[in-house]
Amino acid sequence: MGAHREGSGVVIVGSGLGGYTLAREFRKLDRLRPLTLITADNGEMYSKPMLSNAFGQNKAVEALVQKTAEQAAAELAIGLLPRHRVTAIDRAASMLAVTGAEERQIPYEQLVLALGADPRPFTAAGSEAVPVATVNDLDGYRSWRRDLAPAARVLLIGAGLIGCEFANDLAIGGHRVTVIEPAGWPLGRLLPAALGRLLHEALEQAGVTIHTGRSVVRMAPAGGEGFTAVLDDGTELAFDRALSAIGLAPRTALAATAGLAVARGIVVDRFLRSSDPAIFAIGDCAETEAGPLPFVLPLMAQARALAATLAGHETPLSLPALPVVVKTPCLPLAVCPPPAGIGGEWIIAGQGRDQKALFQGTDGRPLGFALSGAAVAERQALAKDMPGLMG
Ligand SMILES: Cc1cc2nc3c(=O)[nH]c(=O)nc-3n(C[C@H](O)[C@H](O)[C@H](O)COP(=O)(O)OP(=O)(O)OC[C@H]3O[C@@H](n4cnc5c(N)ncnc54)[C@H](O)[C@@H]3O)c2cc1C
Repeated sequence: MGAHREGSGVVIVGSGLGGYTLAREFRKLDRLRPLTLITADNGEMYSKPMLSNAFGQNKAVEALVQKTAEQAAAELAIGLLPRHRVTAIDRAASMLAVTGAEERQIPYEQLVLALGADPRPFTAAGSEAVPVATVNDLDGYRSWRRDLAPAARVLLIGAGLIGCEFANDLAIGGHRVTVIEPAGWPLGRLLPAALGRLLHEALEQAGVTIHTGRSVVRMAPAGGEGFTAVLDDGTELAFDRALSAIGLAPRTALAATAGLAVARGIVVDRFLRSSDPAIFAIGDCAETEAGPLPFVLPLMAQARALAATLAGHETPLSLPALPVVVKTPCLPLAVCPPPAGIGGEWIIAGQGRDQKALFQGTDGRPLGFALSGAAVAERQALAKDMPGLMG
């Protein structure tokens, strides 16, 4: 598909925000060099963050498609291989083994892995007999929404960023949502307790039931399409559908099998280069010196820097502090988490829903923040005072 022959030049694997943003940024600098994009999904261009606020934005699933694969390929002047999976990288021959409609060998000069991350599997006794969905791409969202009856009783496992956003959005869509979260409050890794309690209250006012400090220990089918879930305090609850949002693991297997350095993600230097100088990685699958950063703003900065490097102007990545806006309309939130494991304390000020929590290091320096309600408007100004993610 597309006006260009596939292979040689730059080959990108993955058509998420990472792959497509890089293709777009590269084409701003170089219209001529062959550029190929290989993707296991159908190549539709969409913005993944829209998946967890589609009800709130009153968008049908098909309205989330920004461009079809054909439109994207034509506009970006790329060779596009949708529904093709890269199964191996032969680094000595600079060749990819690809399976799809047919088996292919695709050569590359420079290769970019934009493979994303896999949802962590949820396991509890009996969970293999109950369909537990995960949503991490448009296809997954399509099938989740297709099978979602009106006013369904939804078990949502995990109150992290994605879990809280889906809980709020499904409630807006008229579903009866129950969230089970082992930590003491929602967004436990991003918010101090006081703001976590505010979010808990706001979600409950939006119609979501939340059990914090609890986990699902057993599940069993219960006639029709329904099932029951038993919590660790013995509470038994009945549901129609289950959605797990317990975290993501960077996709590293392809790189590891090819002998590239892999830690939590595919290890890259400041130029997004892996341990092989012809192979790069960006987005959710990559691990820079700032660690894995599975968010849109870091991914876009990576794509811009890498596009320049691939176009012949070696450009190191630098990342300022990048606040994340949490899409929970019941309580607007913005967070800029302090580095993991660092010492310090939260200092909280504000009134009612409008709270400003600053994380102060042991030497008094501000290292992170969490804002709620009207205080969210201060996020850009506050971010300027925070240490950058990569200088
Ligand atoms: C519901 C939800 C809401 C979110 N909201 C926000 C938000 O509000 N703000 C924010 O900053 N971040 C948000 N995020 C995170 C953000 O969306 C991701 O960080 C980003 O979209 C990741 O893009 P990616 O291109 O790295 O990966 P992906 O979008 O996962 O793309 C990976 C691509 O690689 C392809 N692929 C994988 N393996 C192979 C293979 N072997 N061969 C061929 N193709 C392959 C896949 O088919 C896919 O096309 C959200 C995430 C989710 C799930």
